[in-house]
Amino acid sequence: MPTHADPVPGGRPGDLERATALSGELAARGVHGIVLAYVDTAGVCRVKTVPTAKLPSAATWGVGMSPVFDTFLGDDGIVTTDVLGSPDGDLRLYPDLDRLVALQAQPGWAWAPVDRINQDGSRHPGCSRTLLRRAVAEAAERHGITFRAGIEIEWVFCLGDAPDGEFVPATRGPAYGAARQVELGDCAAELLAALAAQDVDVEQFHPEYAPGQFELSVGALDPVAAADRSVLVRQTVRAVAERHGLRVSFAPAVAAAGVGNGGHVHLSAWHDGANLHAGGEGRYGMTARAEAFTAGVLAHLPGLTAVTAPSPASYLRLKPSQWAGVFTAWGPEARECAVRVITGSVGRRGREANVEVKPVDLAANPYLALACLIAAGLDGVTAGAVLPEEVRGDPALLGGEEAAARGVRRLPTSLAQAVAEFRGDALLRTALGPVLADAVSAVREGEIAAVAGLDDAQVAAAYRWTY
Ligand code: GLU
Ligand code: MG
Repeated sequence: MPTHADPVPGGRPGDLERATALSGELAARGVHGIVLAYVDTAGVCRVKTVPTAKLPSAATWGVGMSPVFDTFLGDDGIVTTDVLGSPDGDLRLYPDLDRLVALQAQPGWAWAPVDRINQDGSRHPGCSRTLLRRAVAEAAERHGITFRAGIEIEWVFCLGDAPDGEFVPATRGPAYGAARQVELGDCAAELLAALAAQDVDVEQFHPEYAPGQFELSVGALDPVAAADRSVLVRQTVRAVAERHGLRVSFAPAVAAAGVGNGGHVHLSAWHDGANLHAGGEGRYGMTARAEAFTAGVLAHLPGLTAVTAPSPASYLRLKPSQWAGVFTAWGPEARECAVRVITGSVGRRGREANVEVKPVDLAANPYLALACLIAAGLDGVTAGAVLPEEVRGDPALLGGEEAAARGVRRLPTSLAQAVAEFRGDALLRTALGPVLADAVSAVREGEIAAVAGLDDAQVAAAYRWTY
């Protein structure tokens, strides 16, 4: 079970003993340093590291780091809000010992996600991991609902020796092709071995559509653990690729045109150990609460896009007819609707049924994305929101009038539009709290300004190696 308690200066009961034992075990295994990882508002994973012997001190007193990263941009520029972006101040990073793993593809290193608190022990309102932990705990308290989540990871393997910044796919085989599996077989086997050793339960791994593209999906977990895992999997993919002379792009759009990299989120709501998306009286086995939850997600998707697709490059990916799900519509196993309702196979529905949210990419901070998706869904549950009629096929083919009549809207086509939707969505801003809500708007506006005047190819190039 994940720890849902905030860190406290001096450590929670048992932390010191546990960290001391862990640091001894890690040192005996040849681990010299611990990577302390968190994701900033722009979606970039930032780290500090400490020697293994300092783990007990890190677990009890934290490790210092400036809060300025909350308003960093993808290009490392800095914007400010009323309370964030100042060069002053310091936070304490606390590793989550439940999530600490030795990194198989980086011998000598272990890794842990962190929560960030203020030096006086108070909550840092910019910490996205704390926000998600609290959102999950609150859902359980207020609604008796728990969640299981999984984030798909798509990326492109690129040649590591291509001239600086250029994109040359590392495979020549066709989409989903056996040739690609052969071309990168050694690297892929090493990746699977590393993930297994790190307790990452991989469901499947396959060559995807775009040149050099692959996808990996993992088993569902508590949302905080699922977000942690998304960060860990990317660290691992990158590390294995490095060892094979390859470079990895998780960017929403590696090139200006064509299919991009998604980070689809699978989410299911549970009550008393039962999956609300299966065995119900509603459509495709959904219970009334699962339908309302799905309706809530759909209703908030335009504003959510500023959180789930936060990069200017996200809008090169979010195009119709590329399986990125750019319409506020749902359908059973629908690959062009923003929300795909998945029932799972007969016999396993109670375990497998979930909703897949597609307009999410890997520039998204996974903690913020999950916290907002949960808030949106619970808003639907509270309001008893009615799920509209399903859509079959490609919603892009619906005529304008029919789409309007059915409530099918195109999601924002630019980051500026997404920010405008986000600003108008009081539920999402409240879910994030004023500090993070302002940070999201300010960082997105900073990204928009950073790409002013660039054409699509230049935007893709600008973010190709960022995430
Ligand atoms: N690459 C597609 C995207 O951008 C997703 C393909 C799939 O459905 O797996 O979201
Ligand atoms: Mg895919």
